[in-house]
Amino acid sequence: MDAPPALPVVEIFHSLQGEGLHAGRSALFVRLAGCTVGCDWCDTKVSWPAGHHPEMALPELAAAVREAGEAGAAFVVITGGEPLHHNLDALCEELAGAGLPLHLETSGVDPLSGRFDWITLSPKAHRPPTPAALAACDELKVVVHGPADLAFAEAMAAQAQQARINGGDPGPRPGPSLLLQPGWQSAEGQALAVAYVRSHPAWRLSLQSHKWLGVR
Ligand code: SF4
Repeated sequence: MDAPPALPVVEIFHSLQGEGLHAGRSALFVRLAGCTVGCDWCDTKVSWPAGHHPEMALPELAAAVREAGEAGAAFVVITGGEPLHHNLDALCEELAGAGLPLHLETSGVDPLSGRFDWITLSPKAHRPPTPAALAACDELKVVVHGPADLAFAEAMAAQAQQARINGGDPGPRPGPSLLLQPGWQSAEGQALAVAYVRSHPAWRLSLQSHKWLGVR
């Protein structure tokens, strides 16, 4: 897959990262269009059809990143949709000159592309991630709606560990940070995730704090 000179963009906005280990930090979000993963509970279904969103040239995106950096953004989050449906090599090369660390949020179903300072992998049971994505992620964030999601989370954590070993480069860290995130407005998911984290110290809770705060 060639790295395109322009990408379909749903929205670009400067807010706070609401989720994961970097929650609470100033971030510029670049939401790329296109997703075929098809999660029932997806809160960005508007992003699914890539052709419904305008393309932005890479220098235009870099200009937006530079502007956000001047306004206080600490990093850029490339999200979607599923951003890795696109080859991100050229995007990352272009944004590297804009001076902010690059974060990626992905389901990990596609080959990795681009160079990122932080990768959040949010795997889906119905479309499992590639071993390469499991090996490369910095945080593994599993959405919890029911008990099966906890078993899936443990399976993903074990596979991430194995993928790093198989890759021959486990690195200085034992594996990604492990996070359980209750599905939005899922009372069962919330109760399960809280109880599980309380009794499993390897895991921590991730909340969609931007939604609780009513910000983007
Ligand atoms: S991978 Fe993300 S964008 Fe795609 S359907 Fe699932 S939650 Fe929505």
